Amino acid sequence: MGCSNSGKTTLIEKLIHILNQRGYRIGTVKHHRGVFQFDLEGKDTWRHAQAGAEMVAMATPDGIGLVKKLTGEISLEQVLSLMSDMDIVIVEGFKTGSQPKIELVRSAISQQPVCSQEELLALVSDLPLDYGVPLYDINNIEGVADLIEERFLQPSKQNVHKELSHEQKKRYHRNIQLPGVGEAGQLKLLQSSVLVVGTGGLGSPVAFYLGAAGIGRLGLIDADTVDYSNLQRQILHSTSDLGRPKVESAREKLLALNPEIEVITYPYRFNEENAAELVKNYDIVVDATDNLATRYIINQACVAEGKPFIYGGVLSMVGQCMTILPGKGPCFRCIFRENPGDKAIKTTSDVGILGSVAGIIGTIQATEVVKYLLGQGELLVGRMLTMDAFSMNFMDVEVKRDKDCPACGKL
Ligand SMILES: [Zn+2]
Repeated sequence: MGCSNSGKTTLIEKLIHILNQRGYRIGTVKHHRGVFQFDLEGKDTWRHAQAGAEMVAMATPDGIGLVKKLTGEISLEQVLSLMSDMDIVIVEGFKTGSQPKIELVRSAISQQPVCSQEELLALVSDLPLDYGVPLYDINNIEGVADLIEERFLQPSKQNVHKELSHEQKKRYHRNIQLPGVGEAGQLKLLQSSVLVVGTGGLGSPVAFYLGAAGIGRLGLIDADTVDYSNLQRQILHSTSDLGRPKVESAREKLLALNPEIEVITYPYRFNEENAAELVKNYDIVVDATDNLATRYIINQACVAEGKPFIYGGVLSMVGQCMTILPGKGPCFRCIFRENPGDKAIKTTSDVGILGSVAGIIGTIQATEVVKYLLGQGELLVGRMLTMDAFSMNFMDVEVKRDKDCPACGKL
């Protein structure tokens, strides 16, 4: 699909980046006519990996190899099984004549990645070509990504989990027994997606319980690596994970617990630039961050996208939790209008935090998520739950929407 006489790798990088941000797992295959040799830094396969492709393979007349995080070669059987785990595999084709081709195949790379001109879905070109298919220029890669998503990715998503397998009925038996859940509720959870911002003290219990409950797609975003000081409370990470990116360590534990869920990792900071695109692709967001600046960004993006999110905060022996349904209840800024700045606020590294206190608030957040997804129970909307673990008091304080709120006042 698609043609461009130049910038093929740049175009694929952009596509990988956009689709990755939308929550898909991307593999790429790069054809090379020469001797079997992996491109290293600065070359195409490296650039694909840097752009967010999880699996990068190189095919040559001698054979096919796969680069996972660019660390080594593995067998063809492993290549195939890993690639079939991807949502989509983008194959960078050979040049034929003057027109390089970009072709797409779904799932297994054993399918012949060749498309004839009649099967073209769209073209990417800076020239006004007329093939009777949509034409995109190199600056409109979002359009190409939309087309790919519509044509290749969404139908498969809608078809998954029509009914529970025998193993699933056993695995989720205790969920299914709950009032208001049943098999239909479990299927709903399996088709749901949750973005967890932060994989630390709050994010660990949140993601652990959501993974165990069978939330079909979990997104984890965190730029940090595991440090000794995390291990006292961040229960997804172990001593052997020291120095590893937290999202990677978390993903490994979650898949060990429940291999049938999908865990998408974003090893970078959640910021103003990527917030909207990330939030858009999930049903609900969990604020499991440890800093106010990110919390305001989550609030801003979720309110703008109309996405619910669960706020949680802990410090020392106290914690808070609230569920925000934009337009239906108060948002974070209805209550905390101006960001006082992180310097004005004490942090867990100043005054400490008991690991189990983060655990309590995190499990409350996970519970709110499941209730929201199932449409059951009473959510913490317009109620700020506060807990003092020292006196072991729980209290919920009614909070109201502020009609002049700079974030949600106009909704
Ligand atoms: Zn508000």
